[in-house]
This record gives sequence, C-alpha cells and structure tokens, in this order.
Amino acid sequence: MNIVLFGPPGAGKGTQAKYLVKKINGFQISTGDMLRNEIYKNSEVGKEISNDMKDGNFVSDKIVNKLIKEIIFDPQKKGRLIFDGYPRSLSQAKDLDIFLNDSGQKIDFIFFLNVNKETIIKRIEKRKNLENRSDDDLNTILKRYDTYMETTKPVLEYYSENPNFHEIDGALEIDEITNKIDAFLGV
Ligand code: AMP
Repeated sequence: MNIVLFGPPGAGKGTQAKYLVKKINGFQISTGDMLRNEIYKNSEVGKEISNDMKDGNFVSDKIVNKLIKEIIFDPQKKGRLIFDGYPRSLSQAKDLDIFLNDSGQKIDFIFFLNVNKETIIKRIEKRKNLENRSDDDLNTILKRYDTYMETTKPVLEYYSENPNFHEIDGALEIDEITNKIDAFLGV
C-alpha cells in the first residue's frame, strides 16, 4: 500500500513515516531529507537549492520531481511508498498522480495530520535543540508555516475529495496518532 502523510512542518509526519516504514516494510520518501542530503553532498543540485532551503522557500518542482521519480519507478519499492513532505503543492499532487499511474500504482491512504501554529512552533523549537537543523530558527519556522498554508490549501481541497483521505488531530500524542493510523489501515 502507498501512503501519503500530509500536514504542516512539525506535524509529526516524519515520526509516523518511520513507524510505517517498519510496519509495512516500506520506503520513506522524505523530500526534505533528500534535499538536505543534496546540500550535505554539496552536489550541483545542493548548491542550487541551499538558499531556498535556508529561507524556507519551496524548491522547484523540477528538482523535487526528479528525485522522487527515481524512487517511484523503482520496481523494488513499488506499492510500499510512504510519502512524507510530498506533495506540497497542487502541481506536485497532480504530478504524483501521473507518476503513480504511469508506474501502475495508486495512493491507498492519505493521512492529513492537522495541527495549529502554536503547537508546531513549540515542537520545532524542541526538535531544533535535538537535531540542530539549520533551517529551524524561528523566522524560518514561521516562513515555512506560512508558505505551507499558502500553497497547500489547494492540495488539501484536492485530496479531501479522495475517498482515501483521513484527517487526524496532529496535536495528539505520537502513540495516539499511530493508533489512529493503524485503525484506518486495518492491519
Ligand atoms: P521538511 O523537512 O519536509 O520540513 O522540508 C524542509 C524544506 O525542504 C522545506 O522548507 C522546503 O524548502 C524543502 N522541501 C521539502 N519538500 C519539498 C517539496 N515537496 N517541494 C518543495 N520544497 C520542498
């Protein structure tokens, strides 16, 4: 089964994605991690995206799509994809449908982890201390939240019509969210 985890930065997508990787023996597609890895490697792509990442702006669809296509079209990973942080815009949501269709797949579950700005700010500040992520200063957090709200509203509308769409309160404790996901998956 392919799963999309959807929700603002700090909603807990990464934590639940890691849980799901173990549960379904899946592959996490975290575009944020993949992009940070390009910067870490100091690749051409990394050099191109470092300012956008630092400022909390979205990286271009062209770059993001190239990275995710390699995984979607990998036959070893087919049907076990866990999307974390992608899609983030309506164009990416539509591109994802095309990539999945072209590779003979579909989205089986979309989980929207809904969480308010205050909770996110508290969580990201905590994570900043734990992981020392350079894009996690408060201004960047707020910018990322606002960018998210602006560009993902159409994605939310697009997905909320999908019968596989489920909204979960992202302010719940990690275990509670996991239990809700499990209940929807039925496994
Ligand atoms: P994340 O780790 O998912 O919170 O993403 C960190 C940063 O990576 C974002 O603020 C964006 O700059 C970039 N990014 C991650 N995923 C995407 C995406 N799907 N499209 C565009 N930019 C992205």
